Amino acid sequence: MFKRAALLYKLTFLFLFTCSIQYAKVVDIVFLHMNDVYEITPLEGGKYGGLSRVAELRKQLLKQNPNTYTVLPGDFISPSALGTAEFEGKRINGAQMIDVLNTLGLDFAMFGNHEFDYKYEVLQDRMDESKFEWISSNVYHDQNGLRQSFRRIDHPIPQYVILKIPSSGKKMVRVGMIALCIDVNKQPYVYYENSVDAGKRIYSEIKDSIDFLIAMTHLTIQQDKELAAAMPEIKFIMGGHEHFNMYVTQDETIIAKADANAKSVYVHHLLYDTKRKKLKIESELKTIDTAIKNDGATSETVNKWVDRAFSGFRSKGFEPNEIVTTLNEPLDGLEINNRFYETNLGKVIGEAMYSVSRNSTAAIFNSGSVRIDDNLMGEISQYDIIRTLPFGGKIIEIEVTGELLLKILNTGIANRGSRGFLQYYGIQYDSSSVSWGFNGHGIIETDTYNIAVSDYLLTGMEQNMSFLKRDNPGILKILEPQADDKSDLRNDIRLALIKYLKEKK
Ligand SMILES: [Zn+2]
Repeated sequence: MFKRAALLYKLTFLFLFTCSIQYAKVVDIVFLHMNDVYEITPLEGGKYGGLSRVAELRKQLLKQNPNTYTVLPGDFISPSALGTAEFEGKRINGAQMIDVLNTLGLDFAMFGNHEFDYKYEVLQDRMDESKFEWISSNVYHDQNGLRQSFRRIDHPIPQYVILKIPSSGKKMVRVGMIALCIDVNKQPYVYYENSVDAGKRIYSEIKDSIDFLIAMTHLTIQQDKELAAAMPEIKFIMGGHEHFNMYVTQDETIIAKADANAKSVYVHHLLYDTKRKKLKIESELKTIDTAIKNDGATSETVNKWVDRAFSGFRSKGFEPNEIVTTLNEPLDGLEINNRFYETNLGKVIGEAMYSVSRNSTAAIFNSGSVRIDDNLMGEISQYDIIRTLPFGGKIIEIEVTGELLLKILNTGIANRGSRGFLQYYGIQYDSSSVSWGFNGHGIIETDTYNIAVSDYLLTGMEQNMSFLKRDNPGILKILEPQADDKSDLRNDIRLALIKYLKEKK
């Protein structure tokens, strides 16, 4: 009898204790946050990244807490090496990424600037293939001035979502989430509303229906800080765009970004005290490496697309698995270097362009065409070269006036820090006298020069280079490769680089 009473007492105590915990309930909402993911496979010889590892981590987090959301704030359907391959007669164009993210179980994505690399029809296909939801608070589909939300399959994509997480009884914690994108990739089919205006507009609409507001953003860190300063209502920003991890506080708002290509991801715990109505955020930056297993289903999807893409590359004259060379000295493909100064990789690519040219004495290309964001070291396969220059593209030879050449080179310097910063071979720059040299002589405005350039540079799309189009009067002659001549390596800058590295070793 006594025993039973004691047990009852114990149970009652336990019950009361449990109830009292529930009363001052802190609800834990977990976000698995990755950003700027272009590659579905691991990088650096398999050491870092890989979406099947992220999928495994997601499974573990969900097991611990069903209130786990996986988010990707922008830049994922382009550019990627695999996406440039053809499958069944069509460029893959990011379909591999959507399929893998569907298998992984992504919950929410948003536009980054790279989602608008494609023409509208391609983006629409990728959106329609998505099983996850897209959110967009400030980007609209512009159809001849008619601005509407983009649509996914049968519905307009939402400008915000309100997540409802059970707290106690029938009560819910309501988390408003908006998504704000940078306005740099201005395609005719896209209209951008100012981010702060959009944030304020939506907040005033939903403020009575939420407990707190968070944002996914694809903005520069400076813009994120300005947003947080203008809208203290945003308690937490899960961002992207910079490609390296950071955890910054602006007033009361925390801004987090992980490393590109899921080399790291953030696991955020949003701990909401429902009694005191206070939010506390605890974040862990998790390195994605060999310590994490691969999720089987995601691995299968990844391998399926690698096989498809590799057979596509083979049909274009590549042998992705072939070892091109072994590098004992690393070639620097890090974006943070290639967009600020001339790197050894920049020189090598420039020299490769020069080496296949017929008539040129120097080569210039935009640093933004280098996307590997990594050091090339050790055994280098053809696929590594494809990853280095995922856009490929032709090498065009131009005869150009000294005046226009100087304008191009000086614009490249002015673009320091961005993708429009230029890498070159055969040209010298003296920063102390701010002067350009060519074969040991200064560049003379009235002379003409023969230069090999990447075809992208002649589109007028490069930053601050709208003047640089084929019809610029400073371009006196254009020499193009024959598209059907497979032996003409000017048809693909990557084939030129592969040949160059093979011959150099
Ligand atoms: Zn971006």
